[in-house]
Amino acid sequence: MNVVRYRAAAVPVDRARRSRYPVLPDVSRLVLTERPDDPLHCLRPRVLAESAARFVELFSGDVLYAVKCNPQPAVLRALWKGGLRHFDAASLNEVRLVRGLFPAAVIHFMHPIKTRSAIRQAYFQYGVRDFVLDAAEELDKILAETDDATDLGLIVRLALPKGKAVYDLSGKFGAAPDEAAALLRKCRHLAPKIGISFHVGSQCLEPEAYERALALAGEVLAMAGVDIDVLDVGGGFPVSYPAEVPPPLDAFIEAIDRGVAKLNLPAACRLWSEPGRALAAPGESIVVRVIARKNGALYVNDGIYGALSDAGASIGFRFPVRLIGADGGERNDELRAFEFFGPTCDSADRMKGPFLLPADTREGDWIEIGQLGAYGTALRTGFNGFDQTLTVEVEDRPLLETPGYLPAAMRAA
Ligand SMILES: *Cc1c(COP(=O)(O)O)cnc(C)c1O
Repeated sequence: MNVVRYRAAAVPVDRARRSRYPVLPDVSRLVLTERPDDPLHCLRPRVLAESAARFVELFSGDVLYAVKCNPQPAVLRALWKGGLRHFDAASLNEVRLVRGLFPAAVIHFMHPIKTRSAIRQAYFQYGVRDFVLDAAEELDKILAETDDATDLGLIVRLALPKGKAVYDLSGKFGAAPDEAAALLRKCRHLAPKIGISFHVGSQCLEPEAYERALALAGEVLAMAGVDIDVLDVGGGFPVSYPAEVPPPLDAFIEAIDRGVAKLNLPAACRLWSEPGRALAAPGESIVVRVIARKNGALYVNDGIYGALSDAGASIGFRFPVRLIGADGGERNDELRAFEFFGPTCDSADRMKGPFLLPADTREGDWIEIGQLGAYGTALRTGFNGFDQTLTVEVEDRPLLETPGYLPAAMRAA
């Protein structure tokens, strides 16, 4: 079995493996044939393409995929196949990666704080024209490093008050309303395209959060007294986790449409969104192996320094799980709540869950953990030597569906 080293975030999928399976296999069949001792990353290209297609279909504007969420080329290609053409890059490496794969992609540099060299290379070598900023100093950098270009898109990131999203992003980025208004006025004299962006926080469960953010954007626009060409509602769109089924995507789209309708924007103003999690999460699961069962806890071969950092103490997500018994046979129907320990020597490498699995789960079994397409692989480290993984493409449905994302054929059924 070939081992793919994950030192870089983006590693090509082992396509050779596909030749052994005339159609893409399902996870159980693959695991019981390959019996992997390293974490097995299972990509679902069809699911990724479907979620991109669904978002592009429902959102009335441009959909920018937030590349940081999962930058694997196989993921980016699947989203492209689903009709996605715009990318939210936050570093020069992400810009380079996307441009290398898709010469025709529209790449937007959406990190408010950039190095001078990244701005210069993005503009001159990779054709990036849109840059986000949240301070006058960053605007000066952008102008200086693009040699005072006159074809820029300058997007002002607005700070939002702390919301109820699972990950709050309000502390680090964004201009206060009066600063944002002053920046917009300044940008209007400098660029043919200007706009406002915000981010409500990741895994945002309240559609109304977008409406509130849009109302704040409206106040900033009134203060600025200038017209904008772009209104970017950011990312934050949620997916299902066990015990947390979010409102359907339509509810978020409707809230955005209501919020936008109140703003009296110029007819030519484009709407943008920057989903990451919503597109990527269902597209990858990880199969871990039970190395030991001790004192009722399961010691598995991946953890918080691998793809499971969001299951650790600080975030504590409960991901969907499914047992693939080592003997391939039936197991106890009785479920038990387990906690996981990861493979490194750090005692913080612990995932409380609880994860519900058959009570007789034991050493040698595998556990498929779902919804890890977002911020799973992307956050993997090589700590303690546990950087070896395998990546395969599979065909089956994800462990959990998120309301609103089923493809048309399945919705009708
Ligand atoms: C991380 C990020 C996103 C994606 O957020 P999700 O919650 O994954 O949708 C979008 N825009 C910006 C600026 C980000 O930093």
